[in-house]
Amino acid sequence: MSITEISGKVRSGGRLDPSEALELYSNASTSLLGLLADEFRARRHPDGIVTYIIDRNVNYTNVCVARCNFCAFYRPVGSEEGYVLGFEEMFRKIDETIAVGGGQLLLQGGHNPDLPLEWYEDLFRAVKARYPAFRLHALSPPEVIHLSRLTRLPVPQVIERLIAAGLDSIPGGGAEILVDRVRKLLNCYSKATADEWLDVMRHGHMSGLRTTATMMYGTVETLEERLDHLFRLRDVQDETGGFTAFITWSYQPEHTELGGGEATGIDYLRTLAISRLVLDNFDNLQSSWVTQGGKVGQLSLAFGANDMGSVMIEENVVRAAGASYCMDEIEIVRNIENAGFVPKRRNMHYEILGDPIFRERAVPRMLELAVARAEGDTTRPPEINRYAARSTTEKKARLTGAPPEGLRRPGH
Ligand code: SF4
Repeated sequence: MSITEISGKVRSGGRLDPSEALELYSNASTSLLGLLADEFRARRHPDGIVTYIIDRNVNYTNVCVARCNFCAFYRPVGSEEGYVLGFEEMFRKIDETIAVGGGQLLLQGGHNPDLPLEWYEDLFRAVKARYPAFRLHALSPPEVIHLSRLTRLPVPQVIERLIAAGLDSIPGGGAEILVDRVRKLLNCYSKATADEWLDVMRHGHMSGLRTTATMMYGTVETLEERLDHLFRLRDVQDETGGFTAFITWSYQPEHTELGGGEATGIDYLRTLAISRLVLDNFDNLQSSWVTQGGKVGQLSLAFGANDMGSVMIEENVVRAAGASYCMDEIEIVRNIENAGFVPKRRNMHYEILGDPIFRERAVPRMLELAVARAEGDTTRPPEINRYAARSTTEKKARLTGAPPEGLRRPGH
């Protein structure tokens, strides 16, 4: 089919097949791709509303045994720079989030062998006991699989236990590209194969949870493999309808073992646009301004996105790899309005919560993103000793009574 015929099919509500999507993605002009995606967005969201959420991205530990080669965030077990956040620190972060109008934590972290399932359950219960209405959007599929392996419980049982403790929804992280050839090259095949990642989402949806889906592109994959990823997501969404939104961002190469360059802004906009067209059963596509910057983030509203994602209060993962854009609510709202849309606050389920909060009451401005831990701060949360150690480093530390190198209090 020619590009004109495929465009006509898309405009009349037809479904793209893989070869048509590849033809558009490879050969359509950027302006045409943008126009088709924008028309799709306008059909799906005719009210001109662009949403955003106020939440906080908390990375509870950077200690990880998975060692993905594109990741600049993790530290190996025993590293002096490893950290685990304490429950009290999490409560402080929640208090700060509530102060700026937020109602949710996006909680993700490394695969730390010394944090058993009970640690997560205790944390979730403690949060819910203290902040009953606060939402926990937590633990991407590879973290759920990691817990399933640690406990030797099947994934559905791990999910049920997490729900019972207070889990509200699952973020779509750790998907990278859902093609096993790529996952092997990125050293993330053993943390979760493509099928395993999708299965966690299926189980989550069947347990009544809503989840998001993501794609990190720009490493070693081909355009066909990016499209495979999108079609696999579309198939699961056809089955379950459980995804609320899709977010794509480009690989951030700084400080990673894999190295290489970063995809261009044009590549981002083309990838966003083709995602909007292929994922015709997803209601919402987010702009990834944290990796692309505010201006490309704003432009993405003309390339299929209808949501500006999160008003970031904290970011650790992509910042470790060199991206560090920050916008508070005032700036996000300005970007939405200047692009001709109506800004509305939402929750994880994309229910509208209201107008911008800074127009209702004074909120502190956030001109810089917070980090999980200040450099050199290796304080050790007291409750960690309640849980059995699994790593040799942690076991040794318990025997000698000294905290492991990476979790030493300053001055000790
Ligand atoms: S991407 Fe996640 S799982 Fe992979 S090394 Fe980094 S923290 Fe660990």
